Amino acid sequence: MDTKTRLLQKKQELENIIKAKQQQMMIPLAEFTDELSLYDEHPADIGSEVFEREKDFGILELYELELEKVNNALERLEAGKYGLCEMCGNPIEPARLQRLSHTTLCAGCARQTQDEFIRPAEQDVITAGAMADLGETFQISGHDFYDH
Ligand SMILES: [Zn+2]
Repeated sequence: MDTKTRLLQKKQELENIIKAKQQQMMIPLAEFTDELSLYDEHPADIGSEVFEREKDFGILELYELELEKVNNALERLEAGKYGLCEMCGNPIEPARLQRLSHTTLCAGCARQTQDEFIRPAEQDVITAGAMADLGETFQISGHDFYDH
């Protein structure tokens, strides 16, 4: 599969997830609670249901950010700049591109900028990342982002 196909698939996948999440979040809280109990092993009081819901918004933001990255990668592909590091201009490691098809940074630069999608579970990375303005909601959601 070539890069463009992979990116387009990823884009489609993310758009589907975002759409599903958005629909899920339009469900009134009472119904939403029933939904939650299907996969939430912990008994929940109303406070934690609201909390869970807020967490979902954080997750949605993450997916939207990732979709933005995929779109950006597609644009770079069209412009013939795909696979080159946005910061230092060197080619991005092939293994890294394979794993993160929408990355715009080489491993070295990503470490410097603390790309939150490489190590999503680390709070310090997340708060230092582009989404830091989301505050607590984002930090909480970061832990679960790859669990589902
Ligand atoms: Zn670089």
